[in-house]
Amino acid sequence: MRCPDCDAADNRVVDTRETRAGRAVRRRRECGICGVRFTTYEHIEDRDLSVCKNDGKTETFDRSKLLRSMMLACAKRSVSQDEIDLAVDAIEDKLTRSLSSEIEASQIGEMVMMALAPLDRVAYVRFASVYRNFKDIGEFQEMLSDLDAQDQKELIAENQETLPL
Ligand SMILES: [Zn+2]
Repeated sequence: MRCPDCDAADNRVVDTRETRAGRAVRRRRECGICGVRFTTYEHIEDRDLSVCKNDGKTETFDRSKLLRSMMLACAKRSVSQDEIDLAVDAIEDKLTRSLSSEIEASQIGEMVMMALAPLDRVAYVRFASVYRNFKDIGEFQEMLSDLDAQDQKELIAENQETLPL
């Protein structure tokens, strides 16, 4: 690693710490010639993950797609961007850690529901209703019964086209 200032290859590490939940290492280095300090990162190269969809097709895992569907579920709810980012990080982390390079779409869906449940009940039911496609109306009504009247009304309005209510 060459010094960004004087291009010398002679430097020493003055500080090492883990970052990104242990998935990266950050090192502060000091140039042995000019004394300038700079930072280097070491991280695990991302593997390509394949997602098996319900229709049998596979596609490459796409973090931004996961983020989008979670943001949609949380629309107009009091869930911060930070909370959503952290949830997506955690899911991505779990996926990259798994030994298999192929994941069922339904597994990701379950992970999203588990992440949304403690954040916001409405976002959770909203995601679940799209994701599970509620063939069983009883299941949807059961989920609604956990919510207050205002939230129930909102979700029923959103789902009127897809649900035989
Ligand atoms: Zn230097």
